[in-house]
Amino acid sequence: MREAERAGQTQLEELAARLLPWFETHARDLPWRRDREPYHVWLSEVMLQQTRAEAVRDYYARFLAALPDIPALAAAEEGQLHKLWEGLGYYSRVRNLHRAAEEIVERHGGVFPSDYAAIRALPGVGDYTAGAVASICFEQPTPAVDGNVLRVLSRLTGDRRCVDAASTRRAWREGLAAVYPPGHCGDFTQALMELGATVCLPNGAPACAACPLADGCAAAEGDWRSLPVRLQKRPRRRETLTVFLLRCGTRWALRRRPARGLLAGLWEWPNVPGNLDPQAALDQAAAWGAAPTALERERRMEHVFTHVEWEMHGVYLQCREMPDRFVWVTADELEQEIALPTAFRKFWDETMKTEN
Ligand code: SF4
Repeated sequence: MREAERAGQTQLEELAARLLPWFETHARDLPWRRDREPYHVWLSEVMLQQTRAEAVRDYYARFLAALPDIPALAAAEEGQLHKLWEGLGYYSRVRNLHRAAEEIVERHGGVFPSDYAAIRALPGVGDYTAGAVASICFEQPTPAVDGNVLRVLSRLTGDRRCVDAASTRRAWREGLAAVYPPGHCGDFTQALMELGATVCLPNGAPACAACPLADGCAAAEGDWRSLPVRLQKRPRRRETLTVFLLRCGTRWALRRRPARGLLAGLWEWPNVPGNLDPQAALDQAAAWGAAPTALERERRMEHVFTHVEWEMHGVYLQCREMPDRFVWVTADELEQEIALPTAFRKFWDETMKTEN
């Protein structure tokens, strides 16, 4: 072990003693912290990936009200799952939850497994989620190392290894596992997460004055901007598309996206690549067999995904025909049953605003 690593490990050894008392008095009251039921903790951890806690609260409550336990989740229909997830994004997460619930029912008699390896083997469960559930629900010394935790650890110890490297994450997992306090594994996991989410912040200055680790922190004096070290992100690809809101009487045209790729299998407004002018848009709708009669209005929207940005040109067309290449749904169905990804729902929300 190099000297810097030895110093870092010493800081890790002191972590629990410094963090646990702080967590006891500063932990936010979050719905998924009110019990340690594995289904609840697992669901919350999956929802919290890429999403802020405040935004997750309502989704979490709605999801559990509709699907209160693992057998109910396993038996749910895809349409219901997508509707419960609508707006959270990254829909593969809810599909994996469903597959994992089916597996828990089939292989574990509907009881969430308590063993780390068995949890890690469930569909969609990686090192982070397995570590979180095993430590929080089953008091095992299994770290949950995500971006928040890596930020805290890199800054605290001044470690400049790239946190996007699997080897760095593994090294932190091993280093942390060695210092887990017996009997407080779940609290230790949550305390680290909490510090990263509320004090050692990702955007803007960390609140070092309020941090229980400030004494001896390598970044507290001002080097926090350069830590953690990350890979340089590739710029997002920009794509332009013309999005059709085809209305025939009280029905609107939708179709399914391809089974693979971005927003796989979800509903979308019919669309084509490129930015069509009004006449070309009318021609396209006619070619689909929708017999458009009028262009009602146009609206431009943008949506940013992880790797791509969409520049969307929405065209609202009145039509006389309902070709069966599309599914024609009512406004009520759109509101209550159909899960439209946020990129497309923006047009619907705008329509509702305009018409009400
Ligand atoms: S002292 Fe500041 S930089 Fe160091 S861990 Fe705490 S919040 Fe982060």
